Amino acid sequence: MTNISFKFSCDHHCPDSKARAGTFITPHGKVETPRFMPVGTAATVKGLTPAQLESAQAQMILANTYHLHLQPGEEIIAKAGGLHSFMGWKQPILTDSGGFQVFSLSDLRKINEDGVTFRSPRDGRIIDFTPERAIQVQNDLGADVIMAFDECPPYPADYETVLLATERTERWLERCIAAHSRPETQALFGIVQGGVYRDLRQYAAKRLVEFDLPGYAIGGVSVGEPGELIHEIVATTAPLLPPEKPRYLMGVGTYQEMVSAIAQGVDLFDCVIPTRLGRHGTALVQGERWNLKNARFREDFTPLDKTCPCYCCQNFSRAYLGHLIRSREMLGYLLLSLHNVTELIRFTQRIRTAILEDRFLNDFGQWLQPNPT
Ligand SMILES: [Zn+2]
Repeated sequence: MTNISFKFSCDHHCPDSKARAGTFITPHGKVETPRFMPVGTAATVKGLTPAQLESAQAQMILANTYHLHLQPGEEIIAKAGGLHSFMGWKQPILTDSGGFQVFSLSDLRKINEDGVTFRSPRDGRIIDFTPERAIQVQNDLGADVIMAFDECPPYPADYETVLLATERTERWLERCIAAHSRPETQALFGIVQGGVYRDLRQYAAKRLVEFDLPGYAIGGVSVGEPGELIHEIVATTAPLLPPEKPRYLMGVGTYQEMVSAIAQGVDLFDCVIPTRLGRHGTALVQGERWNLKNARFREDFTPLDKTCPCYCCQNFSRAYLGHLIRSREMLGYLLLSLHNVTELIRFTQRIRTAILEDRFLNDFGQWLQPNPT
């Protein structure tokens, strides 16, 4: 499955942890890791133009197969020349398989060995999603990295349920690989499931590695379980994945969880958190969450973060942003989203630099404590 369009190289290993700095080459450019990837569910990172994403130093962004299949449909995006040209983003894109959304957002009608039948929340039509279909849709969308279609058990779920889902995910992976029609330009990543059960995670990781895929993801985390469990799942799973392939922890994008996973050798992260918080008037500032409606910002004419190069921090004050949010002005939400996305990408860039300079544990070790300051 490996090919010349994709190459992952490790630039430096942290001598004191499993953290690593790497470079992932894709047909649309490189991704320097560790890296946070902004989420553009409906082929748009909410509120941000591609030019703003570039200014935020975004490299790879996500789009969502399930949502794009429902609207506008992959045929239209394929006619536009694929996702990159449809949404005006020239750098790498990753699409998820839709598995998570099928299981979490849909009115499920039937799950069996063949696939999943669900009712579209948009127009009520009945849709069949199979591993083959999920891959065909992603082939039509044309992202650089595509994800295997997996069965995502809910949390909490008993051992037997998770065991069956884990085994089925492996059988579905074989079908995904067989259905993949563009392996030379799209890298298919496998997803390690296994819930909170250590032995199932180990089993899934070992089996998936045998498929020699171009990259691996740890899925089924950040679905409501406590932070310590996420840490345990990552610590169990990440070291079993091949060191010469990129590792992606799906749906995780908080400061502490990213640092903890990076220390275990994870390279890529995604989360809707920065834009979602922005739309609620909350700023991420150097590890904290600030509600801009707070009275302390009313007459604070300093930038959100004077070290941040984003357009929001370079031009506006906390007082002005607070005013926009109180007035429910669209600009306030957009500026906070831009800042928040920039902030999380910068955070992973600073970690990368620290790894390259052998300062990772020195600079970020406090995040590995139970209650970081
Ligand atoms: Zn900023």
